[in-house]
Amino acid sequence: MIDLRLLREDPDVVRASQRTRGESESLVDDLLRAEEGRRSAVQAFEAVRAEQKALGKRVSQATGDEKAALLARTKELSAEVKAAEAAATQAEQVLRQAHLAVPNVVEAGAPPGGEDDFVVLREVGQKPDLAEPRDHLVIGEALRAIDMERGAKVSGSRFYFLTGVGALLEMGLLQLAIAQAVEYGLTPVIPPVLLKPESMEGTGFLGAHASEIYRLEADDLFLVGTSEAALAAYHAGEILDLDQPIRYAGSSSCFRREAGSHGKDVRGIMRVHQFNKVEMFSFCRPEEAHAEHLRLLAWEEEMLAKVEVPYRVIDTAAGDLGSSAARKYDCEAWVPSQGRYREVTSTSNCTTFQARRLGIRYRDADGKTQTAATLNGTLATTRWLIPILENHQQPDGSVRVPKALQPYLGGRDVLEPA
Ligand code: AMP
Repeated sequence: MIDLRLLREDPDVVRASQRTRGESESLVDDLLRAEEGRRSAVQAFEAVRAEQKALGKRVSQATGDEKAALLARTKELSAEVKAAEAAATQAEQVLRQAHLAVPNVVEAGAPPGGEDDFVVLREVGQKPDLAEPRDHLVIGEALRAIDMERGAKVSGSRFYFLTGVGALLEMGLLQLAIAQAVEYGLTPVIPPVLLKPESMEGTGFLGAHASEIYRLEADDLFLVGTSEAALAAYHAGEILDLDQPIRYAGSSSCFRREAGSHGKDVRGIMRVHQFNKVEMFSFCRPEEAHAEHLRLLAWEEEMLAKVEVPYRVIDTAAGDLGSSAARKYDCEAWVPSQGRYREVTSTSNCTTFQARRLGIRYRDADGKTQTAATLNGTLATTRWLIPILENHQQPDGSVRVPKALQPYLGGRDVLEPA
């Protein structure tokens, strides 16, 4: 939820943000109207409530006809107070809905436009020179590392088994990510993957993303699509000590229905219903959020350097930010079989947008409570196996193991087809 003080003081900033996103400016006017409506409804309620209190005192002191008149007014007032209270509650609900409808204010400098209007910030690494690159599934099957067929037999399409060196690669990658996170002082976390509706709602995952999320109806719990939801809700309703940013690295399985992805990335493990992810999550003071965002991006790039895959960094355009993010950088790894870069990490600066809804605050230098900022960033996922297998494939069918992953594969520097 955006800062209502900013909206009141500078509504044009919010209007401009909506334009950069390619979204309706009228939502801003709806919110301004709803805020005004709430303010006048609360004032009206407080006025009749004050009259009711004053009258109560006068009644106790009055006698005779005056008392009778005052008692009659008391009766009227009690109905007026009830009505004013109901109107204030209703205005509060209208305000909340209007507030929830407005996405975060885009950070200055984010490219305007939609999905294809991203800006490439840099390309890093050398693309391999492969005459006929085999794709990750061909390589994975030859290594007996990926088994889609039995995944489909056991659980359905977009499910898979990782076996042998496939399982070792995946676990090694996740451990490497956690080891790096710990090295930089992040607290490693294994969060729950089943969340209550209010925890999912706190991060807005039941809004536009509702159709992507698995729900366990009998228990009214949701399977997380990312541990970001659990990590954000971890400090819900708390006042934090943010003299230093608080940083976590959550490792969890993630579950996505991929309802809108019909026919897209149907081969292999690019877009699956269940995958693993190490996710960094920071709580910090709003003035530190920009620097923290660049730090998360640098840590993502450091991990990509460790697995030695070529990648590029893109500055996502405003229309593709999702409602919570003010700015988002994605790293896209080179996938030789597709001859293009594919997203493997994403880091978002959500400023105070998520924390306001979750009631996560800190005390400033004057001891006043202020809303914290939250940020998240991918450190590794199952999808990374794709660029790792494809970029390190050798003409003889083997796959070179990046040095950083070798300890997790029994010291092997090459994986041979089974
Ligand atoms: P997101 O949380 O949507 O920003 O995604 C973060 C990362 O998770 C992406 O960069 C991918 O590496 C990975 N990812 C997202 N969705 C899927 C999926 N359906 N299957 C496999 N990996 C995914």
